Amino acid sequence: MNAAAVLLQSTLNICGSMTFDLPVVSGEPSSGTCGVGGATPSFQRSGRLPAWLRHDLPKGDFNQFTAGLLEELRLETVCDNAKCPNRMECYSQKTATFMILGNVCTRPCGFCAVSRGRPEDLESDEPERVAEAAVRLGLRHVVITSVTRDDLPDNGAEHFYETVLAVRARTSASIEVLTPDFVQYKPGLDRVIEAAPEVFNHNMETVPRLYRRVRGPKSDYAWTLELLSRVKRLNPQVKTKSGLMLGLGETRDELLQCLADLRRHGCDFLTLGQYLQPGSKYLSVVRYIPPDEFDELGEIAKKMGFEKVASGPFVRSSYHARDMAES
Ligand code: SF4
Repeated sequence: MNAAAVLLQSTLNICGSMTFDLPVVSGEPSSGTCGVGGATPSFQRSGRLPAWLRHDLPKGDFNQFTAGLLEELRLETVCDNAKCPNRMECYSQKTATFMILGNVCTRPCGFCAVSRGRPEDLESDEPERVAEAAVRLGLRHVVITSVTRDDLPDNGAEHFYETVLAVRARTSASIEVLTPDFVQYKPGLDRVIEAAPEVFNHNMETVPRLYRRVRGPKSDYAWTLELLSRVKRLNPQVKTKSGLMLGLGETRDELLQCLADLRRHGCDFLTLGQYLQPGSKYLSVVRYIPPDEFDELGEIAKKMGFEKVASGPFVRSSYHARDMAES
């Protein structure tokens, strides 16, 4: 056992019932984000994660190329900032999810270790730099996310709009936006949809009972649902997408009710992935859901009417996003 690790025995009763020994590590956290839904946990090095959460070496040779290009263009990615467990795989295949509006978030989500505090000023040339990266990576599907900017009068909507237009002007790629909730400036959503991204993604993250603990006091389950409905009313051509992290203590009934709510609000695409604790300061993993249970939940979701579903331990909202958008 890693010297920094202690074991926490938790009785777990979500999506079934079982008892697990969960490792909790003291020390420096890695990070998570609303775009990723959990990160590579520092305790992964202790080797105590379930076998299904150990990664094979990624295919593809472009990890250094992608990282170097992002550095040259001074771009942030959620892959890096969240230390996404899929980063090596995605970078090696010349894919990444751009994170605009800086790398400091104004929300204190309990699952996410992206830096929080007072963000820097916006960089007006960022949309063009994102477009340049999309061109040089040869992306056919561009995913753009951001930190939450409650400090900006429009919550960053105009910057999203300009970034979508800049990418469209330079590429023929489809575009997916993975936005904050615009809860403090609801018309911000309308401005983003004016840019007509092919996919609008906003993550539900978890079930209503856990909402404020996981997503912070400003979050609002009803508004998250309304947000997805409103996209459809504004532009029915835009595909809507949402995702949840599992393993935070949700019950199976709560999860299925949440999926039903998403369907009632017209959500087209769904992602379900395992929450991984970024570090000791963050919400604990209550349960590691086995792959066959993810498969089962994915099948249930398809029967509920979701057009596309990705469900598995390593699924993140932007993981293989092009496959979901194109197929
Ligand atoms: S899954 Fe998404 S966030 Fe994670 S590395 Fe891949 S593109 Fe980046």
